[in-house]
Amino acid sequence: MRRRTTRRLRTQKRECECGKWQYGYETDKTESSRIYICFSCGKFEASGVFTDNMVQTFLEEPRILMHLMKTDFIKPIR
Ligand SMILES: [Zn+2]
Repeated sequence: MRRRTTRRLRTQKRECECGKWQYGYETDKTESSRIYICFSCGKFEASGVFTDNMVQTFLEEPRILMHLMKTDFIKPIR
């Protein structure tokens, strides 16, 4: 019996092509603003207010991402 696994769920992390995890973050402001980042290989996916340049900056300076999380602009997807 085949189980349906195609339904898209909001997940905190998902598997990356490199075998590690991509971590998901979102904002309160816009429903569709989400990012998934793999800090191992640098692969990411961005939508909404997140531009590729922004995510590139997060990868180079994870402290910025931490700061935005502290100020509640971004939070991990749960
Ligand atoms: Zn990866």
